Amino acid sequence: MPELAEVEWYRKQWNVGLGKKIVDVRLDGRNRVFRGTDPRELHRRLVDEKFLSSEARGKRMLFKFSSHNWLGIHLGMTGKIRVESGNFHPNKHDHLVLYQSERALVFTDSRQFGRVRFHHGREGPDWWDTGVPEIISAEFDQRFVDRFLDRHRKAPIKSVVLLQNGFSGIGNWMADEILWRAKVRPPKRTGKLTRHERAAIFRATKFVVRRSLETLGRNFTDPPKNWLIHQKWRREGVCPLHRTLLRHTIIGGRTTAWCPRCQK
Ligand SMILES: [Zn+2]
Repeated sequence: MPELAEVEWYRKQWNVGLGKKIVDVRLDGRNRVFRGTDPRELHRRLVDEKFLSSEARGKRMLFKFSSHNWLGIHLGMTGKIRVESGNFHPNKHDHLVLYQSERALVFTDSRQFGRVRFHHGREGPDWWDTGVPEIISAEFDQRFVDRFLDRHRKAPIKSVVLLQNGFSGIGNWMADEILWRAKVRPPKRTGKLTRHERAAIFRATKFVVRRSLETLGRNFTDPPKNWLIHQKWRREGVCPLHRTLLRHTIIGGRTTAWCPRCQK
């Protein structure tokens, strides 16, 4: 599932069409990715408008078009954004294609857990501003994290780091990376964390997000070799620090990899 760094990379794929007009829109309005949106409006409003800018927040993307038109995309489990040539014919899973004279901007999603939303209005869509700070922003500070952790004292910390209204854009692999780096056992109850552990989780979150954006988010290159992600899915995966065999536990329905020696 795409997490914040992958989303940031996908968001930029359409940049090649910035400043250019949309000449046609092709979509299948009955598809599940358009739930809650009137697909006819999307077609009617976007043709002849220019693609102006884009932005990502957590796992969500927002594309702005001229005449106050906004397109939101969530990639869900299997969504992808790509660019094809101007005479491109959509395949089964290409649910939205924005044609420009020289290219086609394509949104694909085989499992259809993703979502396309549309908004027309001078102000941005109300579903965009959730009030949750981006992790790279200054508003995501120790105080914010402490208050958020206090609201979820009974839950295992692994589940809490996955909550999008606190840790915006974090998914399964980043959560494991953060807890491994912070040396915190993933099933530990959030209310039992020490002050030292809370500080370590905050620092590790900032670090993992920043480095992921510099690698995956910039050009889809792998995160550094000594990260847990490279071992996490291996049958005989080991801790990158001292080769201890990793353990795998299911927490809140998600497979969690952790090192029994680092995360006591
Ligand atoms: Zn270890």
